[in-house]
Amino acid sequence: MAGAGAAAYVGRFAPSPTGDLHFGSLIAAVGSYLEARSRNGHWLVRIEDLDPPRTVPGAAEAQLAELRRFGFQWDGEVLYQNTRSAAYAQALAQLEEAGWLFPCACTRSELRPGEPYAGTCRQGLPPGREGRALRVRVHNTPVTFDDRLQGPQTETLSQSCGDFVVRRADGLTAYQLAVVVDDAFQGVTDVVRGSDLLDSTARQRYLQSLLGLPKTGYLHLPLVKDPEGRKLGKRYASDPLSQQEPRGALGAALRFLGHAPPPHKTLAQRWQWAQKNWRSERIPRQGGDIVIAH
Ligand code: GLU
Repeated sequence: MAGAGAAAYVGRFAPSPTGDLHFGSLIAAVGSYLEARSRNGHWLVRIEDLDPPRTVPGAAEAQLAELRRFGFQWDGEVLYQNTRSAAYAQALAQLEEAGWLFPCACTRSELRPGEPYAGTCRQGLPPGREGRALRVRVHNTPVTFDDRLQGPQTETLSQSCGDFVVRRADGLTAYQLAVVVDDAFQGVTDVVRGSDLLDSTARQRYLQSLLGLPKTGYLHLPLVKDPEGRKLGKRYASDPLSQQEPRGALGAALRFLGHAPPPHKTLAQRWQWAQKNWRSERIPRQGGDIVIAH
């Protein structure tokens, strides 16, 4: 366990340094932060720089500076996924030893987008072909979990995605594996993040069970959508946080998450109010309007 001490609740925010933080990132940060703080828990930050080709130089530092400017205070050291290759290799070795992995030769053009993996290489590589990615075998037993906001979830991996990639063809660890290895390493008990990751959760639960890791709780926040006709919301949602004034943006995030902060003079007062008045029961399941007011 790294940096988590003995807190009963450990949450985290795990941005990928692929660009600027925006309003959707702020929602995930605020939701995970206030959940952790309202339970006297710890809140960790992990930089998911797992994918060098997608990592933008300087983006991680800029994201951390933004979090500081917004007044977030994290516990312990920031964990960078680029320091964790040995742990990912060890997890892969554990899965390999238990017979869960198989090499897959399929190229992107041989896979059918949007359909579960057809099982082409499951019983061995076709003659003359070389393994590219490593996949983990899935089965027909449904994976179930209770999302604290989105309710009970059931997914049968063989029908939704099939055997999925845990080491990519370019040799990089897949996000699904890295996230469960790191959540366990950091002692994370509860994952609060955007609903765009709800459909990754069954795969992550499945990997937790194969690796014998503790199961985390989940709360998937409403998504910030960009529907046409909501010009302010649309522009605001995609503008970098660095262009927003923190007190107003925090207010907009709190409103989006079902809270109604009164006018505050300072950012510190707003945070104080938020920590005292945060109730996860108020968070709507679906995203609504972005309302900006000071
Ligand atoms: N790094 C992921 C992202 O920025 C989030 C991962 C997670 O919260 O599990 O979308």
